[in-house]
Amino acid sequence: MELKIIYWAVLLVTFLGIYLLGSRTDFKLWVRVMVALLLGAIIGLIFGDLAQSSKWIGDLFVRFIRMLIVPLIFTSLVAGVVSMGDPKRLGSIGIKTITLYLLTTLFAIIIGLTLGTIFNPGAGIDLSGVIPFETASSSMSVSDRLFGIVPTNPISSLADGEVLPIIFFSILLGIGIILGGEKTKTLGDVFSSAAEAVLKIAHLVMQLAPYGVLSLIAWVSGTMGLAALQNLFVLTVILYAGCLFHMIFVYGGLIRLVAGLPLGKFFKGIIDAQAVAYSTSSSSATLPVTLQCVQENLGVNKTVASSVLPLGATINMDGTALYLGIVALFSAQIFGVELSFADYFLIAMTATLTSIGTAGIPSASLFLLATVLSVIGITDAQTALIVGFVLPFDRILDMARTVVNITGDATVSVLVAKSEGEIDETKFRNESVI
Ligand code: ASP
Repeated sequence: MELKIIYWAVLLVTFLGIYLLGSRTDFKLWVRVMVALLLGAIIGLIFGDLAQSSKWIGDLFVRFIRMLIVPLIFTSLVAGVVSMGDPKRLGSIGIKTITLYLLTTLFAIIIGLTLGTIFNPGAGIDLSGVIPFETASSSMSVSDRLFGIVPTNPISSLADGEVLPIIFFSILLGIGIILGGEKTKTLGDVFSSAAEAVLKIAHLVMQLAPYGVLSLIAWVSGTMGLAALQNLFVLTVILYAGCLFHMIFVYGGLIRLVAGLPLGKFFKGIIDAQAVAYSTSSSSATLPVTLQCVQENLGVNKTVASSVLPLGATINMDGTALYLGIVALFSAQIFGVELSFADYFLIAMTATLTSIGTAGIPSASLFLLATVLSVIGITDAQTALIVGFVLPFDRILDMARTVVNITGDATVSVLVAKSEGEIDETKFRNESVI
């Protein structure tokens, strides 16, 4: 009991310190979020399971940002399309976006497979003491997903927060408003002022980020701690290294060499979104923050940001693909499955499709592992063992892959905006606004 009081006292003093850091000095939000991340990890390690008692603060923060997802996508996408005034350009944005999403995912899976082959993370692991954990053996098929993009009832899609149908309907509504000319101009104005209002709310909610991030990280490090790293040491190190490599070389290369923009500014501009992704392990929950960072710090125009990012949060999961590749090899090594070149190819294809079908929520891909593992002959019972082994520590792996997932979305939005002339480079090169 006393320890709990001490824990809460430490937590509240830390919150106060972070608050004062923001109000008394001109430290930017991202600095406070980073400080919170670090302090949260330390507090969690010191107080262990007690950190569970403050997790609700993090959960509340996540609820706040989730609240904004649907209004943000709907209003800013309609307003964005209307402001573009030319439906044809949307087609070109769409093609570029999907091509880049697939291309970067392919790179991610190649990195995952290479690291998994070189470092043998499954070597010497004995699963005999593991309690199997059954999961669904198939993700939503790609054809179902494609069909589902057209909503039968847009209002119920909005109510259920189905992102792809909302994107589809918003684009069409935007086009309808453009085609309506003078008659529908007022409706266009309503959407653009609604989008402004929702963005303002997002700005306010982000002020809570340091406290939410701190509570969530304290919970992760307190309940999983260093033990997690020991048990899955090689897998964790490889995954983190792969994620870093992918972000620095693939995204970095694209931003620096293809878009010709400064890399430091890019990463600094999205650091808030990365911190939120790291602490929430959910690209969907991070979406409002990603949208805000990309528009306000990186100068990506509303149309591009609001069409590319929500789509990315749903279908572009490079961190997930990289992870699925590593775990496939990890499992093959544990169960002694010999892999041919064709198997590698099959893993790459299935992991790419599975990552498209993975929802942007915590641990989503762990539950779709069976889809990838079945192509190399790993049985459902064996998969259940792997999931049982990884599950307790999956959060730590999930945090890294989610950061990559949202960084990939931001990268593609910058590239598409650059090629469409829809980026304000002065904003990109200037100091971050949030
Ligand atoms: N948590 C990840 C995300 O939201 C998905 C995954 O489990 O890989 O992006």
